[in-house]
Amino acid sequence: METWLWIIVAVLILAAAAYFWRKKCPSCNERGCDKTGSFVIRTERGQSLRTFTDRTKDRDGNVVSTTKRDVLVTVERQLVRTDWSCPKCHYEFSEQEWREVDQF
Ligand SMILES: [Zn+2]
Repeated sequence: METWLWIIVAVLILAAAAYFWRKKCPSCNERGCDKTGSFVIRTERGQSLRTFTDRTKDRDGNVVSTTKRDVLVTVERQLVRTDWSCPKCHYEFSEQEWREVDQF
């Protein structure tokens, strides 16, 4: 294919990705809702299992072996509320999701 054809294909894929990435309105099913606000409504402390990899090196600095270990880390979980507004039908809705923040 010609180079310009590849560029057009790339632009189309990007445009489609940008379209589908936009928020869908639960009322009128149109995409393109605006984020009107985002804030933390609850914070909790918890523990989360993480896997760390230790590398053993020889004198020349070459990795000779790797060991995986599971470590319990203290995390902060935040319940985040995001508000959305639909510019087409003016429907307003919000979503809640938990986010993990590492504590050191
Ligand atoms: Zn809508």
